[in-house]
This record gives sequence, structure tokens and C-alpha cells, in this order.
Amino acid sequence: MKHVEETAPQVADAIRGETHREENGLEMIASENFASRAVMEAQGSVMTNKYAEGYPGERYYGGCKFMDEVEELAHERALDIFGAEHVNVQPHSGTQANMAVYLSVLDPGDRILGMDLTHGGHLSHGHPANFSGKLYDVEHYLVDEETGRIDYDGLAEQAHRFDPDIIVTGASAYPREIEFDRLGEIADEVDAYHLADIAHIAGLVAAGEHVSPVPHADFVTTTTHKTLRGPRGGMILCDDEHASDVDSAVFPGTQGGPLMHVVAAKAVCFAEAQTDEFDEYQSSIVENSRALARTLEDEGWTLVGDGTDNHLVLVDLRDESITGKEAEEALEDVGITVNKNTVPGEEESPTVTSGVRIGTPALTTRGMGTEEIERVARLISRVLSNTDDEELKSGVADEVRTLCDEFPLYPDLP
Ligand SMILES: *Cc1c(COP(=O)(O)O)cnc(C)c1O
Repeated sequence: MKHVEETAPQVADAIRGETHREENGLEMIASENFASRAVMEAQGSVMTNKYAEGYPGERYYGGCKFMDEVEELAHERALDIFGAEHVNVQPHSGTQANMAVYLSVLDPGDRILGMDLTHGGHLSHGHPANFSGKLYDVEHYLVDEETGRIDYDGLAEQAHRFDPDIIVTGASAYPREIEFDRLGEIADEVDAYHLADIAHIAGLVAAGEHVSPVPHADFVTTTTHKTLRGPRGGMILCDDEHASDVDSAVFPGTQGGPLMHVVAAKAVCFAEAQTDEFDEYQSSIVENSRALARTLEDEGWTLVGDGTDNHLVLVDLRDESITGKEAEEALEDVGITVNKNTVPGEEESPTVTSGVRIGTPALTTRGMGTEEIERVARLISRVLSNTDDEELKSGVADEVRTLCDEFPLYPDLP
């Protein structure tokens, strides 16, 4: 930090402030995690200096020997982890990865069937505010409002009626296992491509904690920074059949030069993901998430889908006296970071909502186990039942600080 300090002290202040915030709060946003020092070292390296448009062995710039080395390492490791035939590690983000897949097989006006955002889907699955909703003809499928689970039969019927060119599966706020085999069959029946977006659950899939979509999808996209715990970025897996179309859709189709410092950090992340420790980590995420769900239910809260199979729970606040926004703010007051989230059948606006999404990946990275998560769940419950009680909240804030001190995050960072 000494160099940032000298050149741009206000930026240094902000970075120190963020370090402090991450260290001294309980991070429970389900899409967030803490990258290792190794990942951040690679991401903060000289690899950021190099233009490497193209792919290993066929670049548009000279001097790419080491770029080829890291990108090939990232390839080998990703293919080993996910068991796919082809991978592209250049997408700048999860959204860019989806964009490239659409560009590779769809024409503007073609039909996308994707999960509705308010039911757990993602903007890039055809939301009208996103390019995917503007360029393509989109229908959304919903979850069953009673069970909170994907209505596979309903989806099949809808697919037969709508006749989509691609079915997009995967979600941002869905607490239950996704049956990718069933979804793959539906896509086959209607002769649509199947894109499985595992942005949230990639780490679980890598470790065998969630069924893999790779055998059941034509394309699998992901981010690398959520449960996978790597640098902020995206990735596409597919069969050899689609390899060259996907590669040209990423570059030159939707991107210019790859972020090679991020590609290097992805290669580091994938090395981590090949270890037994990583598998144990993913298994602890799920155990912790189950403990969170159990404790919140014991405390009387309603969960969408009645529990969890993965790294997150979705609390349904519709029968409570608070909104998602109020819940998020009250928890922020005590140092617990979550996000307000729509629930299936939502009647509030997206800036208010009737739910909160709570995830365990980041706290599990800090080393917390079920005992700590149960403690945190009780703190959450206490705050949500007493959002206006400042004295109670200040007591909870003290407990949050104690817990953070017990599980240091980046002990060697200033
Ligand atoms: C997070 C997420 C993405 C997008 O990731 P960005 O890197 O923020 O663009 C795409 N799809 C799903 C399902 C996600 O949860």
C-alpha cells in the first residue's frame, strides 16, 4: 500500500477503510467471498500490463509467452475441475460470459426462456433492463410459490408452448438443488440449447456438493468470485462442438484484450480448487448454511423453499412487520452485511422487497463453523425482531466485533 499511499492517499484511505470493514463485520452476502492472498497477489501483478488479444499460441501481440503459460494453466485446471471439453477463461464477468454464449448461438430476436429475476434469476437471463431482454424475445419461468422450488412440469409445458432457442438455468437466489438433468431433458425435448449459469454454486459443483450441469448442458457459465473464491471474473465451459464459436464470441465478439492479471489469478484460484481443503471448505459452506436455516426456522422465521441445499437461505418477510430494506439496514447497523431480496410472488418494489438473502461462503472462509453460524443466526433473529431497539442493537454489535476478532481474515494486511 505504500505506493498507493504516496501517489493517491485518498484511494489508500478507501482501501484501508474497506479492509477494516471486511475484517470487522460479518459478511453474509451470498454472492461474496474473500479471495486468498495468493489470488490477490496474482491479480495485483505485472500481468495487468500486457495486451494479449487472441488465445494461447495465436495472439495478436508479441511478448505473450507468459500470458500463454498462465492461460493454459487456467485451462488445464478448469477442465480438470469441471470435467468439460472446452473452456474460455477470458470473460470479464458472469454477465459477459452469458453475453458471449448468446452471441455464439442466437440471432437478435431469437427466443430465450430464463428464470424470472424476482423468482431467483439474474438480470442477464433476459431482464428488460439488460441487453439480454432488449436484444432477444424473452419469456420467464417462475418457481412454485407454495414450495419455492422450480416447477419442472410447468417449465416443460411453457417450453413446449414458447419453443425457445435457448433455456437458461441457474440462479442468484435459489436455496434448493437445481435438477440440471431434468432441465437438460426439457431443453432436448424442445430442441433448445441449454445454458446452465452456475455463477453462485460453481464452488459447490467443483467440490461435488451440488450436481454438475456439465453433462446436461451445451454451455455452462460461471463467475469465479462467488463460491469459487477466485478473482472477480467469468468463465465459459462447453463441448468441443461449440468451442470456436464461443471463443470468437468472447474475442473479438464482445471483448477486446483479456484481463491477464485476472486470468493469472483464475489459474491460482483453480489450483486452490483442486485441493482437498477446498472440498472440505465447500462442504462446510453447506453445513453452515443448513445450520443457519435450522436456527432461523427454530426462531420462527419463514424460509423460501423451507430450507436450503446450498450456500444460502432466503428469508420470507411477507408475514412480518418489516421489509427487506429495513432488515438489511438494521443488520448493517450491527455489522452484519446481507442483501434485501425479492421473494417469489413479491409485491414490494425491488428497492424495498419482502426478503433477505443470507449466505455462508464468506464466513466459512474465515473459519467459522456451525457453532458460530448458529450464534450469528440468533443475533440476526434478535435484530430483525427489534429493529428499532438501539440498545439491543449496540449489544449485538459488540458480539459481532468479538466474533470477528476470534476469526481474523487478513492478519497480515495493514
Ligand atoms: C452473479 C451472477 C452473474 C453475473 O455476474 P457478474 O460478474 O456480476 O456479471 C450471472 N449469473 C448469475 C446467476 C449470477 O448470480
